[in-house]
Amino acid sequence: MELNLEEALEAPVALSHRLEVPVGRLERSELLSLEPVDFSGTLQKAEPGFVLRGELSVSGQAVCSRCLAPVPFASRGEVSWVFAPAHKRPTAEETELTANDLEVVWYEDFIVPFDPLVEEMLQLEIPLKPLCRPECKGLCPRCGADRNIAPCDCREEGDERLAKLKSLLT
Ligand SMILES: [Zn+2]
Ligand SMILES: [Zn+2]
Repeated sequence: MELNLEEALEAPVALSHRLEVPVGRLERSELLSLEPVDFSGTLQKAEPGFVLRGELSVSGQAVCSRCLAPVPFASRGEVSWVFAPAHKRPTAEETELTANDLEVVWYEDFIVPFDPLVEEMLQLEIPLKPLCRPECKGLCPRCGADRNIAPCDCREEGDERLAKLKSLLT
């Protein structure tokens, strides 16, 4: 979808957009699948430029960062973008003086591709280290057994050190 900023010159415009993002596009190895992403929000005139505020709903499946089991996730978050005309863009020297305040989308004309902006935002909505459950025991680093199902016979290095320490103390 493309945003036509001009539509909001007179009055705020309500927007909704459903977007299918191929999982591979996001380059997140922990991501298994992604449902269509929904955005709804309002585009309105600001000074200078425009502001788009709304809500992004994302859901899908990722792998548990400990045991690799599929974990469903769903998030709904507030998002916003500021659009400012390219001719207002500060020069390099001016940028040094002002702090990195806002992420601004600089536009040359009123038509702005929207999907890349949503994809960028998605990166923040997908969990970084998903867990199938908070107490997930994960896979054994030695034999690969899923320790949620059954404990394996491997001994933790920590246990060995502790055992040595104990034998020294007694
Ligand atoms: Zn897990
Ligand atoms: Zn093991």
